[in-house]
Amino acid sequence: MPESAYQKRRDFSRTPEPDRDKPPGGDDPLFVIQKHDASTLHYDFRLEVDGTLKSWAIPKGPSTDPREKRLAVMTEDHPRAYADFEGVIPEGEYGAGTVLIWDRGRYENITRKEDGLRAIGDALKDGHLLVRLHGEKLSGGYALQRMEGDDWLLIKMDDDAADARRNPVSTEPDSVASGRSLEEIAAEAGA
Ligand code: MN
Repeated sequence: MPESAYQKRRDFSRTPEPDRDKPPGGDDPLFVIQKHDASTLHYDFRLEVDGTLKSWAIPKGPSTDPREKRLAVMTEDHPRAYADFEGVIPEGEYGAGTVLIWDRGRYENITRKEDGLRAIGDALKDGHLLVRLHGEKLSGGYALQRMEGDDWLLIKMDDDAADARRNPVSTEPDSVASGRSLEEIAAEAGA
């Protein structure tokens, strides 16, 4: 396959821009957003970093509008295998309630420093990272910016995937893994 003009003009060891005529694949780490109907409904945003899932709880869920800043409270790391979990956590257990895989896919770290990409572990320590999501509902760049303590903001970057008119949290509520709603997952677990 011939190189595109886009590729020829860029040294991808030096630029964080995407080297993408190929689809995201198995080399990229995964992300998942789990809608969690616990004591209060929230969205658990998780990024695979070094084999574990860095996690934030987003009360209002992610937005596709760059003007919307969404509070994202950092929570404990989860094992990578948790990305596949959809079901009901029983009463009395930590996080009791129904979990639905709201979106998932691969992501790229596109955090910049002067001379190229900033490693994601360093970006996390800095409290500033940029990721490009390749999900089923969400795509394009998102910024995660630490404010104070465990409080971060998740903000859509102003790129081709930004869209102030979309509101996938309300218009696309169901699971990308099973097509089920929270109510259906809860009912099947109880049956
Ligand atoms: Mn949760």
